[in-house]
Amino acid sequence: MEPAQDFHHLKALLEWQVELGADEAIGDAPVNRYDLPDKPPAASPAVAQPEARATAEEVDPVVVARQAAARAGDLSALRAEMEGFAHCDLRMGARNLVFADGNPAARVMVVGEAPGRDEDREGRPFVGRAGQLLDRMFEAIGMGRAAPDAAQAIYITNILPWRPPQNRDPTLAEMNMMLPFVKRHIELAAPDLVVLMGNIACQALIGQRGITRLRGKWVEVQGRPALPMVHPAGLLRNPIMKREAWADLLALKARLEG
Ligand code: URA
Repeated sequence: MEPAQDFHHLKALLEWQVELGADEAIGDAPVNRYDLPDKPPAASPAVAQPEARATAEEVDPVVVARQAAARAGDLSALRAEMEGFAHCDLRMGARNLVFADGNPAARVMVVGEAPGRDEDREGRPFVGRAGQLLDRMFEAIGMGRAAPDAAQAIYITNILPWRPPQNRDPTLAEMNMMLPFVKRHIELAAPDLVVLMGNIACQALIGQRGITRLRGKWVEVQGRPALPMVHPAGLLRNPIMKREAWADLLALKARLEG
């Protein structure tokens, strides 16, 4: 195996374990935690550098994001606020802001993770391989992003609007920073049902990971019923999960019709 293949293979295996709900890394060798120092070596920077603390407080990105999101009275204003939001470094490495796709009047809003290479290039969410599978999944229940009628349409966005480098997982700081925009996005689009596609969407919006445990169980997001589902990228890696995804799609359809 070439080193690059080896890296991607190992990364895929690790991602798969995270998808299954593993949330702790345990090393091969035991660690004697009684030997570890109980205190961090340096003094707290908050005490040692009051000016630094003051600066950090002045520009708390989460507060700035909340204010910007609250200002947006409609979806195009929200997009403009996100384009003007300067505190997330991911924007520096991204070609495009990936805001949303589909019909904003749709009864179903899908929230994914973050743009990948194809999405970054096109400025639209879910256009790569995982996106093509997502389209086929919804087509199977008579729905799709191109449907003009709200009853058959879906509307799609992500937790992060900018591509993380090398498609790494979003950090907690990035998610927290962009969450006010996602929540406002849901409020403004006002779908009847939300689909939380994968672990990152679940972590950001319901504070939980472990999609194989969470999937198929309805939760509430912004006062609306929300269904966690396995991300199509996870289904590409593990097609056997398609059976569960199909059950979840049928549950979604039944809830829309019920
Ligand atoms: N995966 C996601 O979660 N979102 C995209 O837009 C593309 C892939």
